[in-house]
Amino acid sequence: MEKICVAIRVKPTSTQEANNGTRWKVAANTISLHSALGTPIKGQTYSFDTIFGVSTTNAEIYEEHAKDLVLSAVSGFNGTVFAYGQTSSGKTYTMQGSATDQGVTRLAIQDVFTSIDKIVDREFLVRVSYMEIYNEEINDLLAPDNRKLQIHESIERGIFVAGLREEIADSVEQVIAVLERGEAQRHLAETDMNVNSSRSHTIFRMVIESRDKSHDSTQDSDPSAQDAVRVSALNLVDLAGSERISKTGAEGVRLREGAHINKSLTTLGMVINKLSEGGGKQGAHVPYRDSKLTRILQSALGGNARTSIICTINPDEIHIDETRGTLQFASRAK
Ligand code: ADP
Ligand code: MG
Repeated sequence: MEKICVAIRVKPTSTQEANNGTRWKVAANTISLHSALGTPIKGQTYSFDTIFGVSTTNAEIYEEHAKDLVLSAVSGFNGTVFAYGQTSSGKTYTMQGSATDQGVTRLAIQDVFTSIDKIVDREFLVRVSYMEIYNEEINDLLAPDNRKLQIHESIERGIFVAGLREEIADSVEQVIAVLERGEAQRHLAETDMNVNSSRSHTIFRMVIESRDKSHDSTQDSDPSAQDAVRVSALNLVDLAGSERISKTGAEGVRLREGAHINKSLTTLGMVINKLSEGGGKQGAHVPYRDSKLTRILQSALGGNARTSIICTINPDEIHIDETRGTLQFASRAK
């Protein structure tokens, strides 16, 4: 199994936008930019193992690009699924889904419990948290008064967000209820504080802990003791829009938001790039500490952890520059 998997998802064009045409030609494993006359432009063909075309459903994306990672989280390995792309390219659609096509997050929640039910010799505990990073500040979407939370590190807990609410859940329904509470809070914050959701990163996290039922905790010499307790985190991340700020002619608050987003997405790109080059090995410097996002996710990136990145693109002609930026990010990540 690959540690880092990158896929491209092409958003269907709306009828209005489709009138502008698209100059991206999508094939099984390549996306290439063509000139207005229809000839491929040199140096503008990008290759990927997986490209999801406009008719792909969230369920298909989940099956091919997230399911394995979710199942390995149940067996004790950390994992993170990211949606990366410019605003309006389909990140939230991919993660949250629609009424007729459930998103990656809900499908993952269902799979976690389906697999837990099948494992009879272990006892499970699932804890859920949901946070948002806006302007390099961490806010709790499950406890709206928990704002500007700090990241700490300890020997027992590793890296953790101090004060972050964690809800214990033992069914799909309970986790979905927590998820929906967080989503509602996100909408509320958007209206109340004039924060556009495309300007923040959200991390929905399930911590999965399991214990071997047959293991007697008094027998520490037992070689199976090591595996007696397993704890892993599954992170489902909807990133802030990757568009460059200059395009929006931002000032003041918007400019600051943009600078923070650029910094964290650039850091994420560098971290993933290092890891995919094998830089996760001892000694190499991986700049996790350069952004809150990568610091929070540090233990779920690298090492034995698995990462799946879904890069969403909007193929309309007016978004050519942003699409190129996303394809470049994706190329560096794989
Ligand atoms: P983002 O989160 O990247 O800003 P959204 O997920 O909100 O973008 O998508 C923008 C709009 O496009 C939404 O109205 C969404 O429902 C629609 N959309 C995105 N991707 C798809 C898709 N694959 N199929 C149908 N509609 C989509
Ligand atoms: Mg969104």
